[in-house]
Amino acid sequence: MEYNRIFNFSAGPSMLPVEVLESARDNTLNYEGCGMSVMEMSHRSKVYDNIIQEAEKGLRKVMDIPDNYKVIFMQGGATLQFACVPMNLMNKNHKADYIVTGSFSGKAAKEAEKYGKVNIAWTGKSINFSRIPRQEELKLDPEADYVHICFNNTIYGSCWDYIPDTGNVPLVADLSSCILSRPIDVSKFALIYAGAQKNVAPAGLTIVIVREDLLGNVSPITPTMCDYTINAEAGSMHNTPPCWCIYICKLVMDWILKTGGLKEREQVNLRKAEILYDCLDKSDFYTTAIEKGSRSIMNVRFNTPSEELDAKFVKESVAAGMTNLKAHRSTGGLRASIYNCMPVEGVEYLVAFMKKFEAENK
Ligand SMILES: *Cc1c(COP(=O)(O)O)cnc(C)c1O
Repeated sequence: MEYNRIFNFSAGPSMLPVEVLESARDNTLNYEGCGMSVMEMSHRSKVYDNIIQEAEKGLRKVMDIPDNYKVIFMQGGATLQFACVPMNLMNKNHKADYIVTGSFSGKAAKEAEKYGKVNIAWTGKSINFSRIPRQEELKLDPEADYVHICFNNTIYGSCWDYIPDTGNVPLVADLSSCILSRPIDVSKFALIYAGAQKNVAPAGLTIVIVREDLLGNVSPITPTMCDYTINAEAGSMHNTPPCWCIYICKLVMDWILKTGGLKEREQVNLRKAEILYDCLDKSDFYTTAIEKGSRSIMNVRFNTPSEELDAKFVKESVAAGMTNLKAHRSTGGLRASIYNCMPVEGVEYLVAFMKKFEAENK
């Protein structure tokens, strides 16, 4: 690959488009003739104001975000949103439904318990989170202040294949590991949040997309920096925003728009996932724990027949020019995260390696 880059299957932070990195590099010492880099300029300057406006405009265009939604750039990662969501939204009946489909949704539910009553509307714990629930399995409370889901389960490698119907109860979704991977109907959600480091930008930026009617009902204990209303009204500039990350976000939006938008991302992502799952399904050496219909196209988790072979696989994959194929410590095994910037060739290269490894170790 160009610049001697390797195929990086990291679950996050993850690959960024080479074009974006080149553009950032070329502007590092003197951003568009203003005599300094984006890292050095005042966030209140005209130049920077233009960058943050363009980042939001780009994101709105890419995701087709309706006008009655605010876009907020925050910090603290998706993990801080586990607290921000209840502080901002659990204030009518002081209870919320959480659907637990993996690690992060479990963490979100646990954090929310600090702020009100959490009802676990479904959990996949007893089946090792091997699938997403069907609509009729959800025990939803019509009086809940909201329903929380994690749309793509980064660690387990599962993904919702439908948007659950929550009636009049607002639907809140953690989209950290699947945002921008394919078109999604934003209007079906009351609130979407996502840490940027998987598909949007470097770590340090969190994107929040919130329907306007949910604002203004925040719990009085809420730290100012967690208050969606204050941050939305300040245009994400209540204090110094993560300037550099927002700048890279703008460049990534430009790249997505230039390369065919989310429809094209979806085509490429489906193709990559198909190549990889096809290899897994046709093999009696590799297994994947996630049921068909619930499989993530971003994080593909799999195993060889033994932990020893998993470890050997990781070691040899590094020697072959790939990295970060070891799964999360909580699941063990292997995982290939194939976000937007992993090229089809990267997946083809991985599959060729897998076939060779299978033949040598069967
Ligand atoms: C990575 C991830 C998180 C945690 O994100 P941080 O930005 O590290 O807090 C939460 N939810 C999902 C779905 C993730 O993939």
